Amino acid sequence: MKSSARSASDPARWWLFALLLCLLTCSCEAPGTFYTVAIDPNLSAQDQQAIRQSIVDWRLFMDGKLTIYEHPGPCVGAGYEACFWASDLAHTDTLIGIHDPLAVTTLYTQDQHADVYVAVDEDGAWSTATATQTMTHELGHAMALQHTQPETVMCWTESCANPGLTCDDAVQWLYIRGRSDTDTLPQCPAGGTFAWSGK
Ligand SMILES: [Zn+2]
Repeated sequence: MKSSARSASDPARWWLFALLLCLLTCSCEAPGTFYTVAIDPNLSAQDQQAIRQSIVDWRLFMDGKLTIYEHPGPCVGAGYEACFWASDLAHTDTLIGIHDPLAVTTLYTQDQHADVYVAVDEDGAWSTATATQTMTHELGHAMALQHTQPETVMCWTESCANPGLTCDDAVQWLYIRGRSDTDTLPQCPAGGTFAWSGK
């Protein structure tokens, strides 16, 4: 009976061992400095233009520290790829559980791949400036940035967020990559500062 009991538990032990081995060896990728972006053709022309503008804004602001460009064709689900999808409020509501988000980003830290869901229900209600602000913010999430204080583009609401990138956002982008050379950016000789809001 003892022998029988031990052999019955062996498979469970092996599963536990395999799980522990996986947890020890399956690590998450760190935020990178090279990204590609895929844009769902079902997004409105305004949304697509705003995404393209946000790519340019991020690239220019980071002045060579970040390589980011749109790749042709559909999302491939690769690491360090941000895929912008046409979605709707019914879906984006389920992702973060609050009403009426303009867009929501899900970041998979295993490979730093991100899906950005844009609520097309809002099409026509956005100004070009708001669309660009939103895409710049979501692209920040896709590159692992979190929400920060008012007057940064990464502030958590449209009203508290800055219309575009700030040196404080650049500080966060560099900090989570283990760097602190914000003052080498042409636009940020005085550096900057940030505080995660926890929201
Ligand atoms: Zn956000």
